[in-house]
Amino acid sequence: MPDIARNLKLVSDRITTASAERTDSSLRVVLIAVSKTVPIDLVKAAAEAGQRDFGESKLQEAAPKILGLPAYLEWHFIGRVQRNKVRKLLPLFKYIHAVDSFRLAAYIGEIASETSFLPKIFLQVNLGNESSKGGFSPDDLYQQMPALLDLRSVLIVGLMCIPPSTPDAESARPWFVMLRTLRNELQTKFQAKLPCLSMGMSGDFEVAIEEGASHVRVGSAIFGRRSYRVDGELG
Ligand SMILES: *Cc1c(COP(=O)(O)O)cnc(C)c1O
Repeated sequence: MPDIARNLKLVSDRITTASAERTDSSLRVVLIAVSKTVPIDLVKAAAEAGQRDFGESKLQEAAPKILGLPAYLEWHFIGRVQRNKVRKLLPLFKYIHAVDSFRLAAYIGEIASETSFLPKIFLQVNLGNESSKGGFSPDDLYQQMPALLDLRSVLIVGLMCIPPSTPDAESARPWFVMLRTLRNELQTKFQAKLPCLSMGMSGDFEVAIEEGASHVRVGSAIFGRRSYRVDGELG
């Protein structure tokens, strides 16, 4: 069994060091411990070590963990969102990271308007224009931003990306710069508030933080290597 408390401490220390490297070092970085495929006991160990934010990519797998762990924990849905699951996602997840179309964002708003939940959503951007990944192209975002900002019952907090895989962390930097630049341009052009950037995983979270990440999604560096893949998701 991996030493979760120790791994968390190592990752937190690396986050602190990387945060000091950036221009706006006052911005707090939220560490999302990605617990997909991880048994509830290990998630509990992380919570007991002080970890508060967790990420899951499958509703069915996540629900028993969320319901079985303390209510003060905050859950981030980081997988691809299926429309027929939205109603069940809302009571469980405060954040939805991979909203990849206007239609989906509008639908989440529609369902949320029937409830007391105000989901915080990230718009996923497909920076590398990869057919295997969902997300808005930067052009889509320029066109659809006014309509997105008009949506009621969802709060668009920022942008998210899963960049094309790179041989090393440093090679991912241009993608992170691209996401931050896009966010900055959208904020200026549409006078929007998009404070959050969800970017960076176990292999490259320090680079992402140096380039302005507000949320890093870190799984294997905390919980160890995943022993199996989640269908249709990243490994
Ligand atoms: C699995 C996953 C992660 C975490 O990946 P690690 O490399 O284990 O840190 C981050 N983001 C998304 C969207 C994922 O599916």
